[in-house]
Amino acid sequence: MEQCDCGATAGPLGLCADYYHRILTEEQTDPQMYRWHAPVVCAYLLQHPAEAHDKHLDGQFRWLQFYLDKGMDAMIRVQRHQVARNSHRARSSYDQAPLAPYAPLPAGTSPGSFRATFSGLPFDDDSFVFDGHAAYGRRIDALVEATLESWESVRA
Ligand SMILES: [Zn+2]
Repeated sequence: MEQCDCGATAGPLGLCADYYHRILTEEQTDPQMYRWHAPVVCAYLLQHPAEAHDKHLDGQFRWLQFYLDKGMDAMIRVQRHQVARNSHRARSSYDQAPLAPYAPLPAGTSPGSFRATFSGLPFDDDSFVFDGHAAYGRRIDALVEATLESWESVRA
């Protein structure tokens, strides 16, 4: 059976990258689903760090903690504020203050195995939200929790 970098086995749609790209496509046509965009991107990159920029992983790791701690609305509010703030500046610079209270990314290599994976996401009727947005959101939360849990296990 085909295996992904993250340790997951392929699902009916293929490897995690296939799932990820289908999510990104579907959420473009579904504003309610798009609300989970940032947690989806952060969780995917942290589960597949070879596809990410190393210097951004720490911020992505902290964003996932912020998301579980403060919730979706707070995350969207802070990110909107940062986009507005950046548009007023010549040089892009993110305000790190909201992320400062959270644990940094543990040093070391990727943990390699996750309790919940992208290729394990159910897909039916040509959609990831076939059983509603709340159910989809709970699956994304489980992915986020699994991502943080495995990375935390790397911390000695
Ligand atoms: Zn994977």
